[in-house]
Amino acid sequence: MENNNKYEAVIGLEVHAQLLTNTKAYSSDENIYGAIPNTKTSAITLGHPGTLPVSNKKVIEYAVKLGIAVGAEIRKVNRYARKNYFYADLPKGYQITQDDTPICNGGFIEIPCKKNKTRKINITRIHMEEDAGKSIHDLDPFNTLIDLNRAGVPLLEIVSEPEIKSGEEAFDYIMEVRKLVRHLGICDGNMEEGSLRCDANISVMIKGAKTFGTKVEVKNMNSSRNVRNAIDFEIKRQIDIIEKGGSIVHETRGFDASKGVTLSQRHKEEANDYRYFPEPDLQPIEITTEYISKVKENMPLLPKELFVTYTEQYKLSDYDASLIIEDKNIASYFNQLCKLTNNYKAAANFINGVIKSHLNEKALNITELNIKPVEISDLIRLIDDKKISNSVATSKIFPILLNSNQTAEMIAIENNWIQESDDKVLKELIKDVLAKFPQKVEEYRNGKKGLIGMFMGEVMKLSKGKADPKITNILLRDQLEI
Ligand code: ADP
Ligand code: MG
Repeated sequence: MENNNKYEAVIGLEVHAQLLTNTKAYSSDENIYGAIPNTKTSAITLGHPGTLPVSNKKVIEYAVKLGIAVGAEIRKVNRYARKNYFYADLPKGYQITQDDTPICNGGFIEIPCKKNKTRKINITRIHMEEDAGKSIHDLDPFNTLIDLNRAGVPLLEIVSEPEIKSGEEAFDYIMEVRKLVRHLGICDGNMEEGSLRCDANISVMIKGAKTFGTKVEVKNMNSSRNVRNAIDFEIKRQIDIIEKGGSIVHETRGFDASKGVTLSQRHKEEANDYRYFPEPDLQPIEITTEYISKVKENMPLLPKELFVTYTEQYKLSDYDASLIIEDKNIASYFNQLCKLTNNYKAAANFINGVIKSHLNEKALNITELNIKPVEISDLIRLIDDKKISNSVATSKIFPILLNSNQTAEMIAIENNWIQESDDKVLKELIKDVLAKFPQKVEEYRNGKKGLIGMFMGEVMKLSKGKADPKITNILLRDQLEI
């Protein structure tokens, strides 16, 4: 961008995470994606007169989990508020949310930045609210259809401080939030299905300025790529306007992903006055310190804690560690495996290599893998004991293990794959080969070192493929260099 040096962008994100509860936030309607439209809509969801909402305990638990995970302060007395507006997909005419008493304040999300470092993006607040229904504009050519199954589905809204500086950083921030909520098991993070949605607030200012520029809000994006592209477009658009002597209008815009542009939706002057007031039908929720400790005790290790264990204790590379942590179930499989073997590097290689390619190929989750950690630890032990080669383990035994109840060792023995690593036996084989090709030995000794491959091949042949290649190579060189 030409004006990169003159301006800086200021970005704050509002991420909505749909919670994986069985029932809705304030009613016992089922919280399920993809059900037949308008079948999960009791009188409470529809806000019929005389109905009363009830707080779903799971929502509180999930909010507390997320709060603990980001290091937020958790509010002891939580009040609900009504946010009033009139729209066809909001049957009650208001959302039950939290106004000035969000359940969490503070905390941060760490995003990757240059040279293996991370940068903290502070969180302003996390509050509980309920989703609206869904307006469907593209099914019927003449009408907008309404599905109210989503109305009342619990959400956590995570509001960041305006500390994000680029589309790329916003992308990373969302990926980190996604990883965290999935890891905690509180949201499936499925952006295409709208389980994680993002509004981006974007402004630009002269580099180093003390006051922020006027912000524009780009609403409701459901892919992290769209968020990045919308922000990049918006930064450029705003800079262009300012450079031409114009000023930024405080407005809400939408992102047209097919054209890669943001488009004005409504100006802030026309903005709704939500007339927030305390929700009269719900008691304030009190959260005790004991409750918070209990939630904490039952939480899995966080991705950043796993990263420290993997890199510092297990000595994995940052790259290997990150690959494993990406998926909570894979991390859990790896943790089980590491209780059975001390060869953490080999364990990581198995997971990031042959196991992941199998899972990708078959579109499986690791929980569906037909091989238990103990079977992988057996394989690793056989390799470490030099009984089988790494390539036999991954390319031959692993595929058989997928469909067999035999142990790795039984398979190796049955197929005659146990390799020869006994020095004495190998030396005999090498002696035979060298005796068979005196001419070649001469040539090797005269400098044709490339012949080592041919000798290796002959020893392998003689051993019926069972010679340990590493040891053979060393012994062979020893013999030839004499
Ligand atoms: P509003 O009252 O318009 O909703 P908030 O103060 O609640 O605004 O902030 C909403 C989001 O906008 C937050 O994520 C915040 O970090 C971000 N934000 C606030 N001011 C700016 C700004 N000037 N430029 C970019 N983002 C901003
Ligand atoms: Mg706001």
